[in-house]
Amino acid sequence: MSKSFRFEAAHDLPTFPEGHKCRRLHGHSFKFDVIVEGEVDPAKGYLIDYGDIKRVVDPIVKRLDHYYLNEIPGLENPTAEALAVWIWNRVKEPLPQLASIIVHETCSSMCEYRGE
Ligand SMILES: [Zn+2]
Repeated sequence: MSKSFRFEAAHDLPTFPEGHKCRRLHGHSFKFDVIVEGEVDPAKGYLIDYGDIKRVVDPIVKRLDHYYLNEIPGLENPTAEALAVWIWNRVKEPLPQLASIIVHETCSSMCEYRGE
């Protein structure tokens, strides 16, 4: 099961080669998917309430939306890879069924982190 979230943010990527376009300050309409997995409780017929995912993830979205990501502690080099790990680290404890985080930087570029 997955639930998607969106936020707008600016970043620059200081480890890219000199002159690379990603080194310049720019923004994205980021999207990320929170994927959970587990056994469906036969009595309930569902794995998790989508609202429970939203309750955990909304404060994280708030921390990212309309910010300059490089200024957020732990995101000094805010690549899609770093962002996926950063989000994972904040979701895994409150949502133990978490299986992966997929960060979409653009509609054709995504990065998946499965916690290893
Ligand atoms: Zn970028």
